Amino acid sequence: MRLTFHGAAGEVTGSCFEVDTGEIRFLVDCGMFQGGAAAEAKNRSFAFDARDIAFVLLTHAHIDHSGLIPRLVAQGFRGAVYATAATCDLAEVMLPDSGHLQEKEAEWEGGTPIYTQAQARASLTHFLPVEYDADVRPHESVRCRFRDAGHILGSSIVEVFLPGRKLVFSGDLGQPGRPIVNDPTPVAEADVLVVESTYGNREHKTLAQSMDELAYALNDTLRSRKGNVIIPAFAVGRTQEVLYLIAQLCREGRVPAHDLYVDSPMALAATKVTAKYSGWRPQADGGPRIRFTEDLADSIKINSVRSGAVIISASGMCEGGRIKHHLRHNIARPECALVFVGFQAAGTLGRRIVDGAPSVRLFGEEHEVKARVFTIGGLSAHADRAALLGWLAGFRKPPQRTWVVHGEPLSAHALRDAIAARFGWHAAVPMPHQASEL
Ligand SMILES: [Zn+2]
Repeated sequence: MRLTFHGAAGEVTGSCFEVDTGEIRFLVDCGMFQGGAAAEAKNRSFAFDARDIAFVLLTHAHIDHSGLIPRLVAQGFRGAVYATAATCDLAEVMLPDSGHLQEKEAEWEGGTPIYTQAQARASLTHFLPVEYDADVRPHESVRCRFRDAGHILGSSIVEVFLPGRKLVFSGDLGQPGRPIVNDPTPVAEADVLVVESTYGNREHKTLAQSMDELAYALNDTLRSRKGNVIIPAFAVGRTQEVLYLIAQLCREGRVPAHDLYVDSPMALAATKVTAKYSGWRPQADGGPRIRFTEDLADSIKINSVRSGAVIISASGMCEGGRIKHHLRHNIARPECALVFVGFQAAGTLGRRIVDGAPSVRLFGEEHEVKARVFTIGGLSAHADRAALLGWLAGFRKPPQRTWVVHGEPLSAHALRDAIAARFGWHAAVPMPHQASEL
């Protein structure tokens, strides 16, 4: 039996792990690589034949985990994609949008899209919803179970039971004690464990501290400086949590009433899915005046708002989408603020801004970064180092093998070292495409 790390090996994007049992081959996640030209090339070439893959187990809807499923289907994959019902609903929102972005990019660069919106829609017919904690049998020799990972709505840890062996894939793990999502489910046993390490070398500030920082950024910008606050955020997960927290700050009187624009059609759709599964509603008494903008004309109207507004838009790493327009209109204004609430991968525009770039290029023009930049790391949807180790402490005996994935080299190696020091487990960071015989 062989486990191959096709992505998220020494980096955070492109999650895709292939299990070859000798009898069948299947994938856990089939995600897109993000961040620059190198990612683009990797998205175009699977290291396997899509027709040989029997099925996919999808941990959650984020594009770096699900984003190449349409390409897999376009290249001849005929099996089912197993995911929780919420993940299936979110994929229905996200994959066609991703296809649309691929088409746009191809148009811009004069190439062929990685896949089209139509191909993304076609891939949705392969999705098969499963319940949390239920036994799923994608093949007679494979049993698996999706456990709540507490990262975003529908997110899962996947337990895979093969004859005589149990594999556990953490997916992306959430930080305990967060609104809307549950805490990650503890897992007690694994022979082979694959664990994420996005924040393997960092501790988040507490939610209370992060709320204070958010309140400061909003108050200072809206009340004192009379500017706008721009928040780049993943449309799925981050946007809903930020909406929840800002509404709470507003109700508590810690930030002034203001216009809050959620400028992303996908965020609106994702908010509806969130409401369907969690019961939470974004509009509450005493909160900000929330406006979801769907069509482009409404989005463009926001450009004329010069002060007093909070604008949440995607993409979360500023790589594409409407956020780039809001940056263009606000980034050079010292009275404005850019508030980062999620992880910024190496090579992305968001990362360059967070790292202090004096100017950035948007739509072919150079813009000075004069707006103040706030990074509120404590709002991340990912478990920090302490929470990762806390989840790992739930295993009752050491896994025979632990693989540390989904982290840039520094954090992946830091978590590997921490696992070795604290638990004495045999842990390693895989190389891209490394195959491990089990
Ligand atoms: Zn994720």
